[in-house]
Amino acid sequence: MKITEMLAANRQMLSFEVFPPKTETSFQSVSQAALKIASLHPDFISVTYGAGGGTSRYTMQLACDIRRETGVEPLAHLTCVSSTKETVKQQIEALHAAGIENIMALRGDIPAGGTPNTDYHHASELIAELRASGYDFCIGGACYPEVHPESPNQKADIRYLKEKMDAGCDFLTTQMFFDNHLLFNFLYKIREAGVTIPVFPGIMPITSRRQVEQVMRLSNASLTQRFKSLMDRYGDSEQAMLQAGIIYATDQIIDLFANGIQVVHVYTMNKPAVAAAIQQNLAGIVGLPL
Ligand SMILES: Cc1cc2nc3c(=O)[nH]c(=O)nc-3n(C[C@H](O)[C@H](O)[C@H](O)COP(=O)(O)OP(=O)(O)OC[C@H]3O[C@@H](n4cnc5c(N)ncnc54)[C@H](O)[C@@H]3O)c2cc1C
Repeated sequence: MKITEMLAANRQMLSFEVFPPKTETSFQSVSQAALKIASLHPDFISVTYGAGGGTSRYTMQLACDIRRETGVEPLAHLTCVSSTKETVKQQIEALHAAGIENIMALRGDIPAGGTPNTDYHHASELIAELRASGYDFCIGGACYPEVHPESPNQKADIRYLKEKMDAGCDFLTTQMFFDNHLLFNFLYKIREAGVTIPVFPGIMPITSRRQVEQVMRLSNASLTQRFKSLMDRYGDSEQAMLQAGIIYATDQIIDLFANGIQVVHVYTMNKPAVAAAIQQNLAGIVGLPL
C-alpha cells in the first residue's frame, strides 16, 4: 500500500527506521533486530540505503523480508550520488519487480575524498526519474528544518525543496531536530514558499552520551539547553540516560501530534527496546483521528 493512501485514513501514524547490515556475515543479526522493530507494527518502516553502495544490495532484501514476515509496508531508501544512470535504472526495475511501492529518493552524502558522480547532482533528478519510470511509486524526499549543511541559506534550501515537489515528490521526512519550534517555523516557511506536500517530522531518541557525538557529526541538528541539562545529569548512567532520552523523544512526539502533525518518523536505529518503549508510551495516542 502506498503511504499516500495510508494518509487518507486521517489518523495519527508512527513510522520507524531501520538500517540494513553492512556485510553478509552481519545480515542475520542485523535483520533480526530490524524484524523485531517491524513486528511492533508501526504504520510503515523505512529501510535506509548505503550511499557508497556498501549496504545497498541489502536494502531491498530487508524491505522484502519485513513485508513478508510482518506485513508492515516498507519504504525503501535509494540514493543516487555514487550511481550511474544505468545502475539507477536497474535498481528501479528491481524495486518494481519486488513489489516495492514506496521509495525515499535521496542524493546521499558525497563520499569523503571521493569525486561526486556526474550522472546525478541532486535528489530532484532521481525523483524525476522515478516518476518518469511510469511505475506509479509513492516517492518521499528529505528536508532539513535546520538547513542542509551544504546550503548557503534556508531560502535556497527551501527553493530546492519546491523543485523536489515539482519533480514528483509526494511527501518529505525531516532530518532529526530536538526543538519542535524549529519544525513549526520551518513548516511556516515552506508553506509560504508553496511546498504543499505532507511533512513527516523525524525524531531521534538519544539514549547515550556517545550517540550525541555521533548525531552532532552526522547532522546539522542543535541540542536544546533542556536536553544538555538532562545529559549533564544522567549521561554517566546508561539506564538513566536511556530512560531520559526515550521520555524526551516521547514528549517531542506528543507535542507534534497535539499540534496537528499526522505522521511522526522515529529514527529507531535498529534498537528494538527503544522502539518498543516509545510505542508503548504512545499507545493511547497513535491511531487517533486527526
Ligand atoms: C529522512 C532522511 C533519510 C535519509 N536516508 C539516507 C539513506 O538511506 N542513505 C544515505 O546515504 N543518506 C540518507 N540521508 C542523508 C542524505 O543523503 C544527505 O543528507 C545528503 O547530503 C542530501 O541528500 P538529499 O536527498 O537531501 O539531497 P538534495 O535534495 O539533492 O540536497 C542536497 C543539497 O543540494 C542542494 N540542492 C538541491 N537541489 C539543488 C539544485 N538544483 N541546485 C543547487 N543546489 C541544490 C540542497 O539545498 C542541499 O544543500 C537521509 C537524510 C534524511 C533527512
